[in-house]
Amino acid sequence: MAEGTDATKAADAEPLRTRLWIGGAWCDARAGGTFESTNPATGKTLAEVAEAGPEDVDCAVEAARTAFADDRWRRMDPQERSRLLWKLSELVESHADELARLETRDNGKPYFEARRVDLPSVVRTLRYYAGLADKVQGDVIPVQGPFLNYALREPLGVVGAIIPWNFPLSMAAWKVAPALACGNTVVLKPAEQTPLTALRFGELAAQAGFPAGVLNVVPGFGETAGAALVRHAGVDAISFTGSTAVGRRVMREASATLKPVSLELGGKSPNVVFADADLKQAVRGASMGVFYGKGEVCAAGSRILVEDSVHDDFVAGLAARAKQMPAGDPMDPKTRLGAVVSEAQLDRVMGYIEAGRREGARLEAGGDRVTVNGQGNFVNATVFSGVEPAMSIAREEIFGPVAAVIPFRDVDDAIAKANDSCYGLAAGVWTRDVGKAHRMAAAIDAGTVWVNTYNQYAPASPFGGCKESGFGRDLGFRTALEKYTRVKSVWVALDG
Ligand code: NAP
Ligand code: MG
Repeated sequence: MAEGTDATKAADAEPLRTRLWIGGAWCDARAGGTFESTNPATGKTLAEVAEAGPEDVDCAVEAARTAFADDRWRRMDPQERSRLLWKLSELVESHADELARLETRDNGKPYFEARRVDLPSVVRTLRYYAGLADKVQGDVIPVQGPFLNYALREPLGVVGAIIPWNFPLSMAAWKVAPALACGNTVVLKPAEQTPLTALRFGELAAQAGFPAGVLNVVPGFGETAGAALVRHAGVDAISFTGSTAVGRRVMREASATLKPVSLELGGKSPNVVFADADLKQAVRGASMGVFYGKGEVCAAGSRILVEDSVHDDFVAGLAARAKQMPAGDPMDPKTRLGAVVSEAQLDRVMGYIEAGRREGARLEAGGDRVTVNGQGNFVNATVFSGVEPAMSIAREEIFGPVAAVIPFRDVDDAIAKANDSCYGLAAGVWTRDVGKAHRMAAAIDAGTVWVNTYNQYAPASPFGGCKESGFGRDLGFRTALEKYTRVKSVWVALDG
């Protein structure tokens, strides 16, 4: 407890950046609006943040366009871009404690996760794409006739990045790092619930030496600031991570200016446990897969499919683990289950728990809304068994620490049930049979399949979904080049 109290004190002493970050300077919203960002673990206001409206988005896009056209960025030696990204990674690393505290206070995630997982991943992402900056190259293409034909890879221009609240700084890095490596400029709209680390990130990028306007940060609401960014004729592409419902709108609205969009959306990922798995490992992996990050993880393994013969043992093991990780003060380094990001989100999660009960699933653990130190939005890790594939808790993304366990008979039944979803983001398979593992990996509709592990990510490994989980990939090498550059084919007559 003492450690947590110390961290809270340190955090309270740190100044917060709360204004818009446009063209390398802090500014207020043109219309003068602000909104509150709260700490979900206390329910208290953390900061009053400037609320970007469409006119501020205009300003940010203007700054990004100007920076894009400026030779200081456009003609910058790619190795210099690389050096700036590396320098930013060092600044993030040296401010990792501060940034992790800020993320924890804004989002409610355990400090342990923010500091030990999110921050190192941001640093790795920046370093990976520092290495890409001087490798953005095209091809020479053999064509008929006396011509030299080559394909240039050019930056797109201004990228609009719109991100959710569950991994605020990681999502910012996933989008900003490859976009800048490829020579674009960026307008970043963080989620209204968690704007604070993105603002600090913008400031650190300037400190690293990125020219003014290369990265702009416009906190505000989706329906105003986000929509203005999507509609803006001066924005060349939208990289979006968020819900499927908003993803649909983004795609529709982007069609007016025919800008490319990439959509990383929701999921209801199956985690499939076979009887021949190491059951202890599978229980541990499934528990981490669904409860990590309070279950506010797009790839959460929230549909746990378990082979009949080990079903009861598995459920007992998972319920026992759930009971061992009570919700706690996110700032306490021992806490493994933090605060739900907002009261609205907690109401949503509790609504699903109610629906699970009503629809006849068996509550094996959790299910209760709680407070910590008498305050905050918390729910205990929840396990339902006896879940039928038609129930809402088996079909809809809850985005909370709620596991739905569904039994299956054999491999074919497992494949059918795994794919019985409108989503296709991620999946897990637990088995000691290597043939079965590969067969499942091939058969499941998902952008990522984890075998005997879950929730692994690396900057080099592309991440994204299929079906209603969207399209386009974050991360990766070729995938980043394809996403953040366009190809220009140049023909040169050789006989003239
Ligand atoms: P969300 O409501 O879709 O919001 C995502 C972002 O879009 C926010 O910045 C939001 O702004 C903005 N937005 C809302 N309406 C908009 C509009 N009309 N035009 C443009 N932008 C708009 O999602 P969320 O609740 O923040 O995040 C949870 C969802 O994200 C889950 O469904 C989860 O699965 C998904 N997610 C997916 C991935 C992935 O990689 N596939 C990763 C993380 C999360 P406001 O915050 O101001 O509303
Ligand atoms: Mg907040």
